[in-house]
Amino acid sequence: MRTAVVAGNWKMNGTKATVASLLRGLKAGLAPGRTQVIVCAPFPYLSQVSDELSGSPIQWGAQNVSQHTAGAYTGEVSLEMLKDFGCTHVILGHSERRALFSEQDDVIADKFCAALAAGLTPILCVGETLEQRESGETNTVVLQQLMAVVDKAGIASFAGAILAYEPVWAIGTGLTATPGQAQEVHEILRMCLRDLDEAVASKLSILYGGSVKASNAAELFSCADIDGGLIGGASLDAEEFLAICQAA
Ligand code: 13P
Repeated sequence: MRTAVVAGNWKMNGTKATVASLLRGLKAGLAPGRTQVIVCAPFPYLSQVSDELSGSPIQWGAQNVSQHTAGAYTGEVSLEMLKDFGCTHVILGHSERRALFSEQDDVIADKFCAALAAGLTPILCVGETLEQRESGETNTVVLQQLMAVVDKAGIASFAGAILAYEPVWAIGTGLTATPGQAQEVHEILRMCLRDLDEAVASKLSILYGGSVKASNAAELFSCADIDGGLIGGASLDAEEFLAICQAA
């Protein structure tokens, strides 16, 4: 039995006031259940999130972290800093980091190793662009992104990680992958890991991300290899996000 996970990626959104009201809404409305609920906030709000979620079953994380320990890295945030606030998760390799901030597979793999060594759970994102899908490269692209991390971190390290498949063409576009399209890629990702370690692969939670809403979540989450979602826009609305959590 795999853990069902719903993680919100707030991206670069929020104010002190909206963070407070969103978290209050989530705390008040979260029904007890076995789904692991995580919110990933922008750095300046982590302290507020940590305070607001103290004693709550909702876990929280960051959206990026430095691979370096400390020192002369202007503008960067270290794993020790995240841990200082009680952060448990960190999104790594999001397509926006890859495309807009030129994060390459090797850096993402370094961050993954550093996060695990620090005791945080990485949420590793992989996904193809529309162009790659249309030219039949989806499997090659996602497996390459995954294997760059497996090769460096080792398959056993995935026992402490979460994987997310986010087709770039579905992110923030309202174009959701069909359950069939998503399941196909999830299955390929799991099969590739299964060849390396059956136990790790069968326990790994693989989340789908890309225009997940309350209205399409249940159908996506009912697929055999889809263990929950990584939610962008819809995670900024407490009622919508809670409905997605209920669907997992
Ligand atoms: P949307 O849910 O807004 O499409 O974003 C998905 C995403 O990028 C989550 O990391």
